[in-house]
Formats: sequence, structure tokens, C-alpha cells
Amino acid sequence: MPVKTETRPTAPGTVTPKPRPITRPADDGDLAILGGRPAFGRPRHVGAPNIPDRETLMRRLDAVFEGGRLSNRGPFVRIFEEQVTKLTGVKHCIAMCNGTVALEIGARALGLADEVIVPAFTFVATAHALRWQGIQPVFCDVDPATHNLDPAKVEALITPRTTGIVAVHLWGRPAPVAELEAIAERRGLRLMFDAAHAFGCGPAGHMIGGGGDLEVFSFHATKFINTAEGGAVVTNDDDLARRVRLMQNFGFTGLDEVSALGVNGKMNDLAAAVGLSSLEHLEEWLAVNRRNRAAWADALAAVPGVELQNWGRPENRNDQYIVAEVDAVAAGISRDHLVNALRAENVLARRYFYPGCHNMEPYRSQPPAGGWNLPATEEVCRRVMVLPTGTAVSRSDIARMGRLVARVVAKGDAVTAALEENS
Ligand SMILES: *Cc1c(COP(=O)(O)O)cnc(C)c1O
Repeated sequence: MPVKTETRPTAPGTVTPKPRPITRPADDGDLAILGGRPAFGRPRHVGAPNIPDRETLMRRLDAVFEGGRLSNRGPFVRIFEEQVTKLTGVKHCIAMCNGTVALEIGARALGLADEVIVPAFTFVATAHALRWQGIQPVFCDVDPATHNLDPAKVEALITPRTTGIVAVHLWGRPAPVAELEAIAERRGLRLMFDAAHAFGCGPAGHMIGGGGDLEVFSFHATKFINTAEGGAVVTNDDDLARRVRLMQNFGFTGLDEVSALGVNGKMNDLAAAVGLSSLEHLEEWLAVNRRNRAAWADALAAVPGVELQNWGRPENRNDQYIVAEVDAVAAGISRDHLVNALRAENVLARRYFYPGCHNMEPYRSQPPAGGWNLPATEEVCRRVMVLPTGTAVSRSDIARMGRLVARVVAKGDAVTAALEENS
């Protein structure tokens, strides 16, 4: 195969020198996969970081060094936490070093143990965070229409060993919160939401974050609002908030007093400075993502077999992912071949969250008796293609990328033949 599909994009946070873009329009000449030159000189990534105004950021960073308090809940961490509580309308926010540690601390603070029900169609951190704590993730199938946990299927997996449910607001699309809360209540289970994709979804003051016992955000470089590395636990439960706060700081309750087992999950003040500068762009970046999504919708409207996922009202989404589903029969080309052909053009589309956590180690080697039963997850894993957006991508980029998708689909047979010959 001439095209690598599983390399991560070059570390999204690193500064790479920008080669001069090749200005040749994408519409002439052969597709790269058929021997032409790539349409884009500089790769267009999924998850390129949204970078805030550097001048105000530098002033904040100066202030951190000036103040001499680089971590241990410095002033910017406090303000960042306060702003997250205001935006989400949730009572407590505990800023964390990353989303994965936030999930781990959340799981411990909730007393999760034995078995926890979780989707397999998610980033592997959702499952790993549980397993790292000695908890067995029990993978549940999703609703193929929403890509989120299917409550009826959750109920069927509950056993006497089940202690909780971890649901994901995949792509920022709200999971069925009310239904899951009802199940958790009825069956005496704890409920945590992995809201890594969902920061900024919903109306200001009432954004996603208040569901279940607690929710977890990620502020990783690839996410909508980033602190390079970062995350947060948000909860309306005073006692949980206190325990999470204790666990993230070694269990310290006084200068020389440790009253519980803890770890280091703290966000540092430099990261919080990046977060605060980013929050100043919240409305602007939401507007960019919305504009980009509309451009993708226009560009793909006439392409057979390639459908954009759609839900809710545009003002309640953060649109950080452009999620398309490829129907191989209608498109006349498989999702994998389409993705490979785009990658050859330097349009670095991704097959998120292929192949599903259940097909990754250590879970793949340790299926339950009878194996994992996840037909909808398998199907969605075969169809989804995530396309570049964010502030690093322009509307004209999207128009060009859209024309490329159309051309690859139109030449589906030739592209398929070229890729299969090389495999
Ligand atoms: C990014 C992500 C995480 C992990 O967050 P980090 O901040 O990178 O540790 C967890 N769950 C999902 C669904 C994610 O996309």
C-alpha cells in the first residue's frame, strides 16, 4: 500500500515550518492516487489546534512567571475553573492535567470497580482510563443513527458486578442523558460522562456538563478549546467535588497533612493561561466551525453515498468534527479507499474511531465468553470518515477538498483498481 492510514498527524501542537502552498487548483490533472501531484502542498489535518491571540497569551504567560506560581492552583487555574462553571452552569469545576487522568480520578472518586458499561465506539482513553484503574470495561453497542450508547442495550448488559456506566457525548452530540440517568437511578449505578468532545455544546450558561454524577472535559491540543494538555471534572455534587480535588493533589488537606490516597492531576497555570486566552475566542471559533460545516455540507451535497452526520440545532453544537458516513454501494467506493485517496492529496481524513476499542489491546485478546456483540459499532466503524475543519482550514480549502471528494467518488472504479493493485 502506498498510503499510510494509521499514522497520527504530525504532533498537532508542534510548530512546523510552512512550505509555500502549491496553488494549482485541485480540479485539474489526475488524482494523486492515479499518478498526479497532491492537490495540497501543506497537509490539512483533522484536529489541528485552534490557537488563541498570541499577544494576550504572552502577556498572561509573563504574568505567570512574574507571579512565580506555576502550578498548585494558581490564579489562572482558578479563573479558568470559574469560567467553565459559568459557561456550563455546573457548580464545581476541577481543572486537570489532561482528560484521561480526569476520567481516572472521576472513576475512583465515584468508587467504580469490577464492571463498568462503556461504548466501544470512542477514543481508546475512555476504556483505558477504566482498565488502568483495574476496572473491566464492558463494551456496549451504540445506536447506529446517533453513534451514542443505546440505553436499551446498556440495560441488557447490567450484571451483579456492574458498578457504573460511562457514556460519551460522541462528536459533541449529547448522549441520551435522561434515559441513562433513569437506568442508573433504578439500578443503583454511578454515571459518568466522557464529555471530551462536548465543551462548548449547548447554550452559554447551560452547556453540556451537568449530567450524571460527573462529566469530564478534555482540553487536549486537538480539541475545540485547548490548553495544550488539559482536562476538567465538572459536577454539581459538593462531596464528589471535594474528593476529586483531594485526589488530584496527593490527598493533601493541609501543608503537612495528607488524609487520603491521591495522585497528581493538577492543571498548571501556563496551561490555564492558554485556556483563558482560548475562551476569549469561544464565540468566534464556534462561528468558524459552523461556517466550515456549512461549507462542507454545500461541497458534499451532490456527492452520492457521502452523508454528513447532523443533529440538533447548529447553535448547540461545537462542530469540531465533520463526520461523514460513506455508503460504499451508493458511493461506488469503500470508505477506506476514499480516505486513502484523500490522504494522497494531503487531505488527512481520519477513520475515527476505527477499529473500535474492542478491537484494540488489551480488550481484543480478552473478549467475554461468546465474544463482543457489537454489530452497530462494527457497521459505524466501517462507514465513518472525519474531515478537516477548525480555524486552520479556510472555506476555499473546504471547497477544494469537497471537489476532491466528488472527483474520487466519480472515479471510484479507477481509484479502487489502483489501490487494490498496490495492496
Ligand atoms: C481526547 C479524548 C480523551 C482523552 O483526553 P486527553 O485530554 O487527551 O487525555 C478521552 N475521551 C475521548 C472521547 C477523547 O476524544
